This record gives sequence, structure tokens and C-alpha cells, in this order.
Amino acid sequence: MFRPDYSLRRAPAAAEDARRERRLEQIRGLKLNVVSEADSGWDRARRAWNLAADQRPRHVAFPETADDVVKLVTFAGGDGLRVAPQGTGHGAGALGSVDDAVLMRPTRMRDVAIDAGRRRARVGAGVTWSEVQAAAAEHGLAGLAGTSPEIGVVGYTLGGGLGWLARRYGLACNSVLAIDVVTANGVLLHVDREHEPDLFWALRGGGGSFGIVTALEFALYPVRELYAGALFWPQERAAEILATWQAWTSGVPDSVTSVGRLLNLPALLEIPESLRGRSFVLIEAACLATTDEGIELLRPLRELGPEIDTFTMLAPTSLGALHMDPVEPVPVSIDGWLLADLPTGAIDALVGAAGAGSGSPLLSVELRHLGGALLDAAPEYGALASLDARFATAAIGMVPSADRAAAVERHSAVVRAALAPWEADRNYPNFAERSSSVSDFHSPATCERLGRVKARYDPRDLIRSTHPIPTA
Ligand SMILES: Cc1cc2nc3c(=O)[nH]c(=O)nc-3n(C[C@H](O)[C@H](O)[C@H](O)COP(=O)(O)OP(=O)(O)OC[C@H]3O[C@@H](n4cnc5c(N)ncnc54)[C@H](O)[C@@H]3O)c2cc1C
Repeated sequence: MFRPDYSLRRAPAAAEDARRERRLEQIRGLKLNVVSEADSGWDRARRAWNLAADQRPRHVAFPETADDVVKLVTFAGGDGLRVAPQGTGHGAGALGSVDDAVLMRPTRMRDVAIDAGRRRARVGAGVTWSEVQAAAAEHGLAGLAGTSPEIGVVGYTLGGGLGWLARRYGLACNSVLAIDVVTANGVLLHVDREHEPDLFWALRGGGGSFGIVTALEFALYPVRELYAGALFWPQERAAEILATWQAWTSGVPDSVTSVGRLLNLPALLEIPESLRGRSFVLIEAACLATTDEGIELLRPLRELGPEIDTFTMLAPTSLGALHMDPVEPVPVSIDGWLLADLPTGAIDALVGAAGAGSGSPLLSVELRHLGGALLDAAPEYGALASLDARFATAAIGMVPSADRAAAVERHSAVVRAALAPWEADRNYPNFAERSSSVSDFHSPATCERLGRVKARYDPRDLIRSTHPIPTA
């Protein structure tokens, strides 16, 4: 087995440039679809879904097969470069600099295979959730997608995966059955509970620090339809609505996953006139229920007289529109964290910081109800076995300019400070753009084990990931 030496050797600048050029020629010779700064299409190639991330990697590669990824890792490592895998770039805000790396974009690795009999899917590294849900729905099945249909299945799942079925079926990472992964020494492994169990454990919720995933296999669940939608009220009623919702969440079964949110809609022509430029408090929910059961479940919320009510029976393929996440690339900032509790005092603090009259520049501040299956840390689960908190929060703002970015960042900090008394001990990786330490997300024992796995599979830190794991 070829094991390249990744150590950087000093060479005079001109010689180093010439060597790099030769290397690049070699990579091009391997037909890895490499784009570099001098090439046309460079800006498009380096662009992440989150336009706020101005990524300037050394090269961008678009592999088509797992074998291409093996070659890429081998050549990048041999050239003293790192490799930063990126599916869509929804998580680019948390990635940081990639200027010493080849950005690996698996957008051509798009295979989706559904095994309806065994209720499982196998997808390539570039597949998004909308593609999985469409293929699974043909068999009355669904995967554990998040709110946005355009998120990459791999990045989302490695960081946990909190979606509309979370309280019933848990985090997506704990429904993973097998992973194809290229490790830093250029070896393609098929890992599962029996094969390389430590690596399999680390990848499920420990993030993308340990290797480059080329394919993922995971369980699907029998879901043909759900009772789902949103209720809107004017934001002036936020304290009353969120308090009623909070009380409601403590009585609902695990089949109900819901979100309470403050939403400030911009005055854009694409938005219907009745909603344009207005501020609302919303309750969104997906209920694994019939229409009659759903109506009964929602009764206490409907009694508050919502201005808009979109609840109806939906196929899982339609759930992607429920949260109204932007589909096309946008410049966005997300700061998320977990709450141990949400008493009335916390709701009042949130509404004071981000509700009507607060001057908040945020597009949305949301509270996702956790609990249910998210609390069950089964022994066979991965590094993020459970979310030990009652609610997940995220403060989201559009950041088309530096001024706007500063205002959004300042106000996110105001919201976070207002909720600080109720913040949980740990954070949730997928919602965290600002957390930097692995101990923000995991217990000391899990951090230690993740560090050992990193040391074993990527001792020279070739792989550049969000929320990187330091070697133990
Ligand atoms: C609009 C929006 C809505 C969201 N909604 C949810 C939600 O409902 N639930 C939730 O849990 N999260 C949600 N998130 C967060 C999202 O799950 C994370 O940003 C996630 O990392 C996105 O994965 P991606 O592959 O699309 O992004 P990318 O930026 O492409 O990937 C993120 C990271 O994953 C790792 N990675 C990606 N591909 C690979 C690979 N092939 N091999 C190894 N590592 C890899 C890398 O470290 C990479 O930096 C949302 C984010 C946005 C912007």
C-alpha cells in the first residue's frame, strides 16, 4: 500500500512553484476535474452555498468516483496540501480558511439507490436530501432530512442531523448503517459496526475530520404522509403564543416535532403581498398522524386564532418547503445553541431581545423542540448519541454586506446573552458556526475517544473539516 510522506519540505520559491506546476499537471493527467485560480470557472468552482464564505482554496477538484478521491488525497498529501471535502457549502460559515487545501466537491457523485425491502438507501457524497426523499417516496419511505431540501446528506449526517422526524427516529447520524470513506493515507474503507468500528463510531456525529466520505448507507422509515404545516400570528403576540406552545410541547407524543419561531420577512417581491415585510410568530410542526389526529393535536394552538394556517396532509417530499429555507445560494449567518429549559422567563427574555420593537436585524430566531428519541443514547450509536437538551435555538440573518454582517453578529450575541441562563452544557455541531472547540459538543470521554480516532486515521491532519478534531 502506498503511504505518501505528507511532511512539508522547504524549497526555494521558484523551485517550489515549478514543482507545484508539475504536480498540478499530474493531477490534471489523472482527470480529477481540477479547477485552479487561472482557469475560467474558478469563482463558480470555489463558491459555497453560503455566499458569506469567500473561499480561496489552492484548487477545487470535482471527483466522479471513490477511486478519484483516493488519487486526489494521495496527490494533495504528496504536495503538502490538505483536502477539504464540501458537499454543498451550507456549512461553509463554520469551515474557516481553506487556503492550504484542495476543496473537494463531490457534486458529480450523485448515485441514489433505494433498497425498499430492507428500507435502506445508499447515496453518493454529492447527494442532497431532496434527491433521497424523492427516490424514497416512490416506496412510501423517507429519510431523516432536515428543514432544507438542498442540504448535503453527508455533511448534515456527519454533524448529527436534526430534522422533522427527529423526536420519533432520532438524529440522522444514528440511522447510518455503513460508510465508504477514503482515509488520509489514501485507502478506501467500507466501515460499519463490524469493520473499523471506531472510525464508524467517530463519523456518526463527530464530523468530517476523519476521512473523506464517498458514500453513505442509512435506514429509511415508512412515512407516506404527515399532518404538517405552520400557524402564523402577528409578532406582537409572541410571548403569549410561544408560552402556550412551550406548554403544549410537554404533552405531545414523540410523533410530533415542532418549531416555534420569530420571523421577520423582508420586503421582497417574491414574497406574497400579504406577508411581505411583516413580522410573525410561527409554530411549525410535522405530525406522524392522520388528519383527525392532527386536528385534535393542534386544537390548543388553533384556539389562539392564527392569522394563517397551512396545516394539511403532506408527502415527506413536501416537508422541504415547510420551514421556508432559501434554496438558492445566499449570504447567511447562523448561530445556534441548545437550551436546557424554556420557562416563561426565557421566552420573555427571547421576545425582549428579538421580538416586536427590539430592532432585531435577524431574519429568524427559532426554537426547535427536542426530546423523544433524541434523548435515547443506545450503546450502538455514534459519537453524537443523543441531544441532552429540551430545545435547540438558532439565530439566522442575511449578511449581504460587512455592515449587515456586523449588525447580525451583534444581535445574535444579544439574543444568546438573553438566553444564557438557560443554555445547556453542550452545543449542537450542525447549528454552530462560531463554536471552535470539540468540547463544546461532546463529553470529555467522547472528545478523548474522537482524538484517538483522529490520531489513528489522520495523524498529520490532512483533512480540513468544520469543527476539526485535534489529535489526542
Ligand atoms: C438553510 C440551512 C438550514 C439548515 N437546516 C438544518 C436542519 O434542519 N438540521 C440540521 O441538523 N442542520 C441544519 N443545517 C446545518 C447543516 O446541516 C450543516 O451546515 C451541514 O454541515 C451541511 O452539510 P452540507 O454537506 O450541505 O454542507 P457542507 O458545507 O458542504 O459540509 C459541511 C461539512 O461537512 C463535512 N463534509 C461534507 N461532505 C463531506 C464528505 N464527503 N466527507 C467528509 N466530510 C464531509 C465537512 O467537514 C464540511 O465542511 C442547516 C443549514 C442551513 C444553511
